[in-house]
Amino acid sequence: MDSDRGERRRLNFSKRMHPLRAAGFALGAVCVGAVLLEHQSPRWLWALLVLCGLLWAHLAYALALRSRDPLRAEYRNLFVDSALVGFWIAAMAFDTLPSVLLAIILTMNQIIVGGRRFGAKTLASMAVACLLTSALLGFPLQPVTSYRTMLACLPILVVLPLVIGGTSRLLAQKTLQQKRMLEKTSRFDAATGLLNRQQWLYAANLELSRFVRTGRPAVLLMIDIDCFKQINDGHGHVVGDNVIEEFARLMKACLRDMDSGGRYGGDEFGIVMPETRWEEAIVAAERLRRQVAAYAFAGIDLHCTISVGLSEVNSSIASATDWINRADAALYAAKRRGRDCIEVARLPQYAVPTLQDPALRP
Ligand code: GH3
Ligand code: MG
Repeated sequence: MDSDRGERRRLNFSKRMHPLRAAGFALGAVCVGAVLLEHQSPRWLWALLVLCGLLWAHLAYALALRSRDPLRAEYRNLFVDSALVGFWIAAMAFDTLPSVLLAIILTMNQIIVGGRRFGAKTLASMAVACLLTSALLGFPLQPVTSYRTMLACLPILVVLPLVIGGTSRLLAQKTLQQKRMLEKTSRFDAATGLLNRQQWLYAANLELSRFVRTGRPAVLLMIDIDCFKQINDGHGHVVGDNVIEEFARLMKACLRDMDSGGRYGGDEFGIVMPETRWEEAIVAAERLRRQVAAYAFAGIDLHCTISVGLSEVNSSIASATDWINRADAALYAAKRRGRDCIEVARLPQYAVPTLQDPALRP
């Protein structure tokens, strides 16, 4: 699947290059043609110009499509582009304007496509082809550009920078989109859409620092699905995955905008609730516990329960890990108590009631 995607990307590169190369070589042939006319060049050069201006781009595309490695073939084609331009610069006897124009526009494109190093390498291949051709033709030199040739250079001068600019912008937008997507996927758990473990730990850390700075209350909840292994064993992993996704949806619906919900790992989840005391958090946790217990999961009327441990932040907590460990200890106390219940980590400064209190078991 990944290799399919890679193959498509490589072919897309050839597809993008094809119209650009076709336009570039056709317009370039117009400038060169003006110079050949000026110099009354032999027919064989005209024949080569027609082949190069009209056929090379399509041949290059076909070569890339047929190649086992289209990306490599396309890079090879870019070197041929530069060598061809080198050939025509010499064939034009170094007519200044079209020579500089073709060399600059092509090298700009090579740098955009492959970077400065690649640009330098293709420029070198252009120089070598130019020197060899010039030597073969007896080093002709007619650098003065006529007005007619100047006019013939206008189309490529106007059209190609606009096309290359537009293509580069599209490419930059695509790269930005991919970067955003990557940032998103690296922050969230793919199955549940909740924060992943690392990002959730970061949220817990931030909340703890806020407490240290402002002394504002906050609660951290650890939640674990009860007897989840039995769901996997009894109904299969696909159903287990569905239960996790549906539980995450129920959990998200219980969160306020300021809360941070994350998947801590497997069937264990965490919530950080800023500006919240344990008495308030326990009400929210109880609401979630009841909703989960009443919910028919996985479309097969499957029922499951959760256990919750919660810990209110206080000055004896040394780090986010310490805070999580305290909520985790409360969670395992809830498991020991028989599951499907909520336990509060005991704080040094309060006498904390549990849900066994009649007031908290409505
Ligand atoms: P307890 O009530 O003590 O929590 O019992 P439990 O069976 O839920 O035990 P535990 O939480 O330790 O087991 C979690 C199991 O969840 C272990 C692992 O195989 C399974 N699991 C972890 N992640 C996934 C997942 O993404 N999908 C599925 N289907 N199973 C998972
Ligand atoms: Mg579990």
